[in-house]
Amino acid sequence: MSILILAEHDGKQLKQSTRQAVTAAAAWSLPIHLLVVGHNSGEIAKQAAEVAGVAKVLHAEAAHYEHALAEDVAALLLQIGRDYKVILSAHTAFSKSVLPRVAALLDVGMVSDAISITAPATYVRPIYAGNVLSTVESSDAIQVVTIRATSFAVPATGGNAEIAAVAATASTGLSRWIKEDKNVSDRPELSSARVVVSGGRSLGERFDELLEPLAHKFGGALGATRACVDAGFAPNDIQVGQTGTIVAPELYFAIGISGAMQHLAGMKDSKIIVAINHDEDAPIFQHADYGLVANLFDAVPELTAALNK
Ligand code: FAD
Repeated sequence: MSILILAEHDGKQLKQSTRQAVTAAAAWSLPIHLLVVGHNSGEIAKQAAEVAGVAKVLHAEAAHYEHALAEDVAALLLQIGRDYKVILSAHTAFSKSVLPRVAALLDVGMVSDAISITAPATYVRPIYAGNVLSTVESSDAIQVVTIRATSFAVPATGGNAEIAAVAATASTGLSRWIKEDKNVSDRPELSSARVVVSGGRSLGERFDELLEPLAHKFGGALGATRACVDAGFAPNDIQVGQTGTIVAPELYFAIGISGAMQHLAGMKDSKIIVAINHDEDAPIFQHADYGLVANLFDAVPELTAALNK
């Protein structure tokens, strides 16, 4: 028996979270296979083969896999997944649309967002916005699992796994790709950035003006609270928190952020948290390693200017 990991990619790069899923899969001490689904995705299969710990890459190529629609990817997983002990992926929007569908069609349970795997079928997963850690055990013959990528290290490259072509399943025709509206940015991906500069709604229309230069200084990603996104000051793909992206960078700036538990759920595992808030009683300070009680409209430009010296 082996582990099958559903790889995620953007057509150019294998996602870092898929690499972290390989680290998580090591808990079973079983051969790890990575499934790459796509169109013109030979380069991704090569990247997957280089991830240390991967025994085999299964490569499914077809024009209808170009946008990895959940129904079509699930059909493929159903065809090849029955021979595996575990079907695993990182807990991302992509796998959240595919794996529950696979679990339902296999008639097994789904374990989501595991932060550690303590025994072959025992998982720790946060609930109530991360305030409680539950330990769950699955007795299903095939375990369908997503893992929280930030809880697992990125494995080294240097692997040389075999790449085997697998036959594509026919298009289900249940959904079709219409278009994608994407913010194009040269910043690192939020979920894997080493530094994240996040702001709250108090930044208002000056969100970009104040935070961009600071993020640029660190080569970091921008993040925002949901209140900030809802107010239209930041795009929703940079929302950090329970209903946004979960991050655990080396350095996290929380600027004008109150520290609501739904926001904390997305960033409290950051290695170093720096908070700037003019209210010394703001809850964020209870989680900050460094706190500055100041008006952000003065403090952020001063900090950026000091870093430019
Ligand atoms: P506020 O709570 O309004 O805080 C603003 C802060 O800025 C205050 O602490 C204030 O002191 C400070 N401030 C104001 N002016 C200045 C100044 N000039 N200088 C310095 N400091 C200043 N939130 C998320 O972030 N992510 C989520 O994923 C998320 N999911 C949610 C899911 C659910 C089901 C619910 C109910 C809520 C969710 N929320 C989420 C919302 C969350 O509860 C908070 O409302 C939100 O995080 C608050 O955002 P904020 O800190 O920007 O705003």
